[in-house]
Formats: sequence, C-alpha cells, structure tokens
Amino acid sequence: MTKVISSTLGYPRIGEKREWKRSLEKFWSEQISEKELLEQTERLRLDNLKKQQALGVDLIPVGDFSLYDHVLDTSIMFGVVPDRFKYDGGKVNLETYFAIARGTKDAVASEMTKWFNTNYHYIVPELENVKPALTENRPLSFYKEAKEKLGIDGKPVILGPITYLKLSKGYDEQDFPTLLQAFIPLYVQLLKELEEAGASWVQIDEPIFGTNLSDEVLAATKQAYKQFDEKVPNLKLILQTYFENIVNYKDVVELPVAAIGIDFVHGESLELLKQHGFPADKVLAAGIVNGRNVWKANLEDKLELLKNIKQYVNNNQLIVQPSSSLLHVPVTTKLEETLDPAIISGLSFADEKLEEIITLSKGLQSGKETISKEIQNNKQQVDDYNNSTNRINERVRRTIEQLDDSDAKRAQPFAERIEKQNEQLKLPLLPTTTIGSLPQTTEVRKTRTKWRKGEITTSQYEQFINNNIDKWITIQEEIGLDVLVHGEFERTDMVEYFGEKLNGFGVTEYGWVQSYGSRCVKPPLIFGDVSFDQPMTVKESVFAQSLTDKPVKGMLTGPTTILNWSFVHDDVPRNTVQNQIAFALRKEVEALEENGIQIIQVDEPALREGLPLDEKKWEAYLNDAVYAFRLATSSVQDHTQIHTHMCYSEFQDIFDAIDALDADVISIETSRSHGEIIGTFEENTYKKEIGLGVYDIHSPRIPDKEEIKQNIVRALKTISAEQFWINPDCGLKTRNQAETIGALTAMTEAAEEIRKEQ
Ligand code: GLN
Ligand code: ZN
Repeated sequence: MTKVISSTLGYPRIGEKREWKRSLEKFWSEQISEKELLEQTERLRLDNLKKQQALGVDLIPVGDFSLYDHVLDTSIMFGVVPDRFKYDGGKVNLETYFAIARGTKDAVASEMTKWFNTNYHYIVPELENVKPALTENRPLSFYKEAKEKLGIDGKPVILGPITYLKLSKGYDEQDFPTLLQAFIPLYVQLLKELEEAGASWVQIDEPIFGTNLSDEVLAATKQAYKQFDEKVPNLKLILQTYFENIVNYKDVVELPVAAIGIDFVHGESLELLKQHGFPADKVLAAGIVNGRNVWKANLEDKLELLKNIKQYVNNNQLIVQPSSSLLHVPVTTKLEETLDPAIISGLSFADEKLEEIITLSKGLQSGKETISKEIQNNKQQVDDYNNSTNRINERVRRTIEQLDDSDAKRAQPFAERIEKQNEQLKLPLLPTTTIGSLPQTTEVRKTRTKWRKGEITTSQYEQFINNNIDKWITIQEEIGLDVLVHGEFERTDMVEYFGEKLNGFGVTEYGWVQSYGSRCVKPPLIFGDVSFDQPMTVKESVFAQSLTDKPVKGMLTGPTTILNWSFVHDDVPRNTVQNQIAFALRKEVEALEENGIQIIQVDEPALREGLPLDEKKWEAYLNDAVYAFRLATSSVQDHTQIHTHMCYSEFQDIFDAIDALDADVISIETSRSHGEIIGTFEENTYKKEIGLGVYDIHSPRIPDKEEIKQNIVRALKTISAEQFWINPDCGLKTRNQAETIGALTAMTEAAEEIRKEQ
C-alpha cells in the first residue's frame, strides 16, 4: 500500500489580519521594544504552527518564519553582512538585520529584488569580502521551539546553497565552485546539529533548479550534495523545487537525497516524470495544490493526478503538498464576507489549501470512497463558482478574438512622434518628474476607511482627495518639477484600484500577501471576463491638470502588471485575460487623451518578474506582454506621450522586448542596484527617452544633492542628455512629506546644476 505523508512548504508570516506588519512597524517607529516585538511575533509563529497541527499536517515546516525575509535570514546566519554595516563577527543583532534590509543614515540598504517570478522581494546577499561562518543555527532554534512548546516534530526549512549563491552578488561566475565549497561545511554543521536534535526530515529549498543552469554549476551541485549525504547520512533531505518543472530533471533527481519535491502545477513535471521516470529509492514530494493561486482545487481531478504520479514512484512513498510555500497566498477565506458568495465558494487560501492536502492524502492512502463526502462538497462549491453570473461576457470574448497586429501599432514611428511631443510639451533639457504616487499618509488611509465604512459621504471623500491633489500640485510647482503627477491618493494599491473598477474583478477584504518587508499587497481576483465599465482615473487627472500649466501625467497600471499581480482564474488562457485588460485600459487611455491629458504613463513593474523561469518559455511570454502593452497604448495621437515605468534593473536580457513596447519614455529603477543597469545602454542603442532612477525611494534616508549629481553624471556618460529624464526610482507613497520634499528638492537642484553644465 502507498504510504502517504501530508506536508506543506511554508506558511504565510503576516497573520490573518496582518498582525505581523503592525508589530514590525510599531517596533520601527519605536512604539514597542525589541522584547515586545519578539514576544508578539513568537505568539504569531506559534499560532501558525498550532493551526497546521490542528489541521493534521504531518510535516509542519519550521524556520520558514521571518522578521523580514528568509534570504536575509540565511545571510545573517552565515555572517554575510556587507562591510558598510560595520559588523565584526558573531550573531548578527536585530539592529544590523533591519539596517541591511532598510538602510540607515550612513549606509544604503542592500539591493532588493523579486523572488523568482513572484511579487515577493528578497534582500540580495552581497558576498564581496565576506568570510562565511555559521553565526547561529536558526532552523535549529525554530525546530526546538516547536518541539518544546508545542510537541511538534517539525520539518526545518532552509534555503539551499545553490539557490542562495545563485541569488547572491559580489563574485565572478567562475568562482562559484570555490565559493560553494566555503559554504558547504557550514551547511553540514547546521544539518548535523539538526540531526543531533532529532530532526528527521529537512526541506532544502532549491527553486533555482527550475531555471537553466550551466554544466559547471550542475557539477558543483553534485559535489555539494554528495558531501551532505556522506556527512549527515541519517537526515532525510527533501530537495525542494517549485514555480517550474526541474529544467535539468535527470541530473537533479539523481542527487543523493531522500526526497525530491516537484511542482506539478507549473511547468511540465508530469511529462518529465513519464519520460524519464523517478529513482526507485527516493520519495516523491508532489506539489499538486497551487501555492500561487487562490482558487479551490478540484479534488477529484487532483486525486486522479496523484494516482497518475504514483504509478511512477517505485517505493510507493509519496508526500502530498502544495506546489510551493503558502507565503504567496492569503491566510484564510473565513474572514471574507463582502464578495459574492458564489465567488467565495470558489476560493481557497492557505488554511483551505491545507485542508485540501489533508483530504487528498487521506483519499490516496485509504481510497476515494473515504473522502466521498468531501469530494461531493467540493464539487458543489466549484460548480457554484463556475456557474456564477458575471463570469462570461461573450461580447468581450469576440472583440479579443478579432484583434490583430494593426490594433497594437502607433500611427508613426518614435522619431516623428517625439518632434510633435516636444513642440507641444516644451520641456527643458533633462526634465524632472516623479513616478506617480506621493505620500500616502495615515490621514489619507484613515479617511478612505471612513468613506468605505460610510462614515463620510462620497463627496466629502472626493473633496478630501482633491485637497491633497491641490496641496501637492503646489508643492511640486514649488520644488520646480517639470512634469507633475496627481499623486494617486485615491488608490490603496496600483492594481487593486483598477480591480475595483473593471468588470470581471473582485476584491477581498483580508486577502493580503507579503510583498517586501512589512509591505503587503492585496491582489484582486480576476474571476471573469474583463471589460471597461466607466472612466477610472480621468476625474483626478483632469482636476490636477486644471490647477497647473505644467503637464500632469495620467497614471495607469499596465495589463501585464495587473495580470501578474492578480489572482487570475485559469479557465481561459492567460493571454486572453491579458488582452481583455489591455483593451479596457485602451479605453481609459483614450478617455484621458480626450480630456486633455498630454502624457500618459502605463506602469509595467511586474513585466520582468513574470518571466518564466525556463528560458525556453520567454519568447512567448514577452510577445504577449508587448502585444498587450501596445494594445493598451497605441491608439493615441502622435503628440500624446506614452511613458512606462519598471522597478527593476535586470534589463539586459529583455532589452528588445522593452524596446518593442514602443513607449516614448521609460523610467527604470537604478539606484538600488547601484547603477549596474547603465552598462546595458553601452551595449545597446536605445533611441527613445529614458529616466534612470537617481535615488532610492525604499529607504527613509534623504539623499544629498551631490550623490544625485554623481548618479546623473554617471548615466550621462552613456546616455545622451537629450534622451535623459531625471526621476526617483519608484513611487513615493511609502515616504513621508518631509522625506519626499527633501529628496525631490535635492533632485531638482541637482538637475538644475547639471543643466547649466551642459
Ligand atoms: N505609479 C506607481 C507609483 O508611483 C508605480 C509603482 C511601482 O512601480 N510599483 O506608486
Ligand atoms: Zn516602481
């Protein structure tokens, strides 16, 4: 008989109502002490474990919890602290930990970047000059905590060495094997201590195996895992992959570990399994419930999938689990009350996914009949959801089917458009602007909550938003910016806002997921065909424009970003939904233009992070993204200037696609990646206009003028002044008024001085 073990890979940190975020932010603003922070977060962590225990999960992950980010946790555990934080060995204290993450007055924060193709950001380890050492055994403390306080024999989770090093910077590619050798003894020691403490299963996360790796890296990997096998033979290591099928399947499944964790939701893992089989001596940890989406699994289908998988596993031992950590989904659907009940019945968040896992494990272990009641309930709920009204819009489907290339092309090429735009806009050399949002103060958020609760009227709320717009138009004029923004005060979030206004979307009440640090986002649900209902941003943009003679940018979120940052139903192809969104945005773009807005920015910060992990799949993805962007933006007149913004700097490998978007101006994150992007422009000839972020907005630190000037001068060595725009890295919503005014003043002064030198 098959032995079936239920498991999961990680649980959301943030708590049902974002208690985690509150604790962290109170600590940062000195409202609670370190001791209180640690007590509050311990309570949350133990509650999360208890919940998983009560649900009946066999292998409960420990050590997946973090006070900021699990990659940073791994760094400090190995003493990987950049020199500028003045660390001299031993356990890294909390102050240094948060300093690396958030920066201080004297030291810029470490770079932050997207975790594979998700919207979770990790802190990039910097390996220059570091002497790795095991400064503490974090998984061990979490293992002991769970055992001693709750009697849970947990499954410690650690980030594997290959993934950790591949995600790090500060070394040359050819030094990878040597560097890996320096880390292996530390991992061995860590694992040994876990073994001695009685741990039996350990999950080593190696999502990097979903990407294309060189032969050198694969060879070094074999070496590393061989040493684990020799030195800690009794520990059952689960080599865990996710987000994609294993690209080098044959090599990876042969590594000497007890179990291989495979994602059967994303990629073609089942085909690989059929084609190449699975080693007879290993346990297969099958990720079958989607850890990245919020829709209820169809239990009957999933049970079939499991049975199918089982045929290829010779030792009859299976672990049933979600496809990835549940970090990427909200905690529980049980707090949701405002959505259409039919939609709610189609939802499954972390807790509900665990229930699915438990049920499926039982069904596989003891037979389908033992879960017939659950299957029946599940069928009923999935049917209710599928048959709910408003899911299908035939008219939209037909429109999208009839689109072709001519619908996604601007009338004239850039060279001609830009002349007309210059004539109309009359901007100075090196125009200054911002990325869109301005400080979202507590007052703004509180007022929105009041309005949502009905405590103030819509006209009072709109008046309040207008007052903010008015105030900030004046401030921007005083600072001397050239292209202004209305500030996005009316938006909680750049995706949620559109989700609330487009047809086909739904918004949850508590569906938060961690994005970076304490910042959480609430991705909207796309449960049906998407269409334009009525103008979404025209009122605020037109009001802002009425207050000033300077151009005010219209501000929209792009189709690929809306898609990637939403939880999208999967009963039509993704690119159909993408084009539906794009077509709706096109109507918004046209409405803005008709109402006198001369510059329209369509943000695509999520375009790059959505790239498939496997390079073979890039082209199709990029074609879809480019088409959708152009569909949204190409119907405007020549003199209307289209901007786009992206918050990442790894640009090199998608340069052609970025160019193909055919945006007149693009602004890109630069300063947090410490200027690395500029090299890209040396190798390519980019003709359109471009703004490289000249200071980092993620840190509360106010940059000084000289520092900004240096950044500009450095960029102007490669990019011509006629093409160049000056702007911060990203939107300013998380900054306060003083920081914003301080930084933007430094920026415009820097621009002014450099202009004089031109
Ligand atoms: N316009 C958005 C803002 O300024 C862009 C945010 C982003 O790039 N993530 O907030
Ligand atoms: Zn950005």
